[in-house]
Amino acid sequence: MIEVCTVGGYEEVGKNMTAIKIGEDVIIIDAGVFLPPLMDLQESENQGRNTEKKMRKIKALPDDKVLDEIGWRDKVRAIIISHAHLDHIGAIPYIAHRYPNTPIYGTPFTLSVLERILEDEKMTLKNPLKKIKPDTSFTVKGKSGNHKVDFIHVTHSTLQVVFPVIHTKDGAIVYTLDFKFDNFPTMGKAPNYKKMKQIAKKGKGVKLMIVDSLYSGEDKKTPSERIARNLLEDAFSVAKHDRKSALFVTTFSSHIERLKSVVEFGKKTGRQIIIMGRSMNKYINAARKANLDPFRSKIKLLKYRRQINAMLKKVNKNRGKYLILCTGHQAEKGSIMDRIVGGETPFKFKKGDNVVFASSVIPTPASILNRDKMDKRLRNKGVRVQTDIHVSGHASGDDLRELLKIFNPEHIIPAHGSLQQETPMIEIGNEFGYNFGETSHLSSDGKVLTFK
Ligand SMILES: [Zn+2]
Repeated sequence: MIEVCTVGGYEEVGKNMTAIKIGEDVIIIDAGVFLPPLMDLQESENQGRNTEKKMRKIKALPDDKVLDEIGWRDKVRAIIISHAHLDHIGAIPYIAHRYPNTPIYGTPFTLSVLERILEDEKMTLKNPLKKIKPDTSFTVKGKSGNHKVDFIHVTHSTLQVVFPVIHTKDGAIVYTLDFKFDNFPTMGKAPNYKKMKQIAKKGKGVKLMIVDSLYSGEDKKTPSERIARNLLEDAFSVAKHDRKSALFVTTFSSHIERLKSVVEFGKKTGRQIIIMGRSMNKYINAARKANLDPFRSKIKLLKYRRQINAMLKKVNKNRGKYLILCTGHQAEKGSIMDRIVGGETPFKFKKGDNVVFASSVIPTPASILNRDKMDKRLRNKGVRVQTDIHVSGHASGDDLRELLKIFNPEHIIPAHGSLQQETPMIEIGNEFGYNFGETSHLSSDGKVLTFK
């Protein structure tokens, strides 16, 4: 019998966490944070460390206390992290101590990001960290036998993302949060379709699949990162022969592929490239420590406020000489872009300067409002603002149809969103002959599903 506790991320976009029970053994996959309350917290207070208590109070963590209530907590044998995004990894520093001695498995880049987060927050973990390369496997030792787990390489919007696959005597359990099928990635390889097909064919095939349904309602294929690369090239062309105006770019710090494209096309504008901000440092250093340095040529990476302000003073005097890649694409409080626009740095935007948002606005009320304000303030100063220079890292409807064809799972559980985001996945399931309530299942946070 397989039981699945959908701990978090089944009613909202964030705090993803799933626990899977096979006999007397429980394997946790992902433990992420819910970002909106964290962003509100940053706005209301600027000091004091985040503690587990504080994080639970504002509901930024998945409510894993449910595992105590259902008697699973002492049975947890492994914590697996699918990839390095905060909505999948961010709760680990606060909750991993509840599962003492339980090893944490992730790819070298994912665990390198975890190490950088712990360093930054001055926190430590006693759980052993087990770095597992994509397209390899490992064994979780349990009371009900040894459980083989495959890490299948797949593409998304950060490095070394995998589908963890747990093999059981009743068939495989495939976890697909988060992915897109990018056949032309700008770093690394295309998804390992061959391995996926092998798993579907082997033994009893796939018993159940947890599906990234965030954009299941969009009937299209999510474009390749190569498209975002072309959009960036075009966006930068305005500044190519311009030696007078400033050029600022902001994007997701974890999106190393995107950072690489910014640096490559940035070089072609003849400008010196400076990267600024704490989270940029965190992810770039994590990539470097995992031997995945994205920049062949040298860039300047600045972390501390004093260094950054000194550099921005230089940029203010000689604005055509530099390209600044910085944090603040969601207009987050305290980000570099927020501080510049708020007049808190020596750099002042002028008519003719350029700001490129290589991102989309995350559809939360805070982000929509903050970005709207920021864009208006920039445009009022005469800055040329280019927005949405971006393609998504999540699968859309057509990719999800492809996913079902490849794995042909017996059961599907849509995840990574509210009912609104998950319901279209049930409809896609209907096209493939799944029956709602029998072989396709909508869950909610803290609920347990049983598969016989
Ligand atoms: Zn992700």
